[in-house]
Amino acid sequence: MREIERLKEEILKDYPKMTKDSPFSFACHPGVPCFNACCADVNIFLTPYDILRLKKNLGMTSEEFLSKHTVSPFDKNSRYPVILLAMNEDEKKSCPFVDESGCTVYEDRPWACRMYPLGMGSQKDAGDGTESDFYFLLKEDVCKGHNEKNQQTVAEWLENQGITEYDKMGYYFKELTLHEFFSKPENLTAKKIEMFFTACYNLDKFRKFVFESTFFDKFEVDDGTKERIKNDDGELLKFSYFWLRFALFGEKTIKVKEEVLEAKQKELDKKKQAGV
Ligand code: SF4
Ligand code: SF4
Repeated sequence: MREIERLKEEILKDYPKMTKDSPFSFACHPGVPCFNACCADVNIFLTPYDILRLKKNLGMTSEEFLSKHTVSPFDKNSRYPVILLAMNEDEKKSCPFVDESGCTVYEDRPWACRMYPLGMGSQKDAGDGTESDFYFLLKEDVCKGHNEKNQQTVAEWLENQGITEYDKMGYYFKELTLHEFFSKPENLTAKKIEMFFTACYNLDKFRKFVFESTFFDKFEVDDGTKERIKNDDGELLKFSYFWLRFALFGEKTIKVKEEVLEAKQKELDKKKQAGV
């Protein structure tokens, strides 16, 4: 985490900040001399939506994808459990999805791959303390795409790379992980880590938890929502964030059924009377 804070400070100090209207010259295509050079030995953090798209592309279950293609370097310094794309164990540490023709999962490549060479940061406004996003351009020696004449604005790049859709899904995840709950490491018990991991990253397991347990006996979920989360993985993922906000932060994002609350109350009263 200290490393991340250091990087953040460096970016704020050294990289010119860009808005969505800022223009920059860049193009990446099979004709650039460095084609595929960046698809090796790189740390790519995967968002829950990245995992959903990739495992679908590869026809894998969440479990298979997580065990074959990811590592989770979670330790006591991490704010919340994160997932990284595992590189091959060859000399170059190539991405498992690159071949001579380029990215073999291009339609569903992760958010970070779509963004490159743009980076994104957020900064607190000195006046009212609100956070605002900004962009910056990463210029690495290996990347010759900056010599290409193609000019576009940041907004055009985001649109062309299909990032808008990823950002919509990413919004809920960002809101979740920015919660102050995660600022106290003692809040993350082993059970809560498991809960977070399942709901965010192992969507197939979360689906089973919702549809193959007593979930609907305990919680009020209307038929329209049931239908949506049954047929649409993106909707299920959004629902998993509501579930986590309920289960981790105690927010009223999911409603407990009246009869369940009453039964719980009776149980508590009984215990009180028995002096337990
Ligand atoms: S997912 Fe695709 S674009 Fe991203 S590093 Fe791997 S091969 Fe390259
Ligand atoms: S190094 Fe830059 S130009 Fe070369 S393939 Fe990667 S993103 Fe494209």
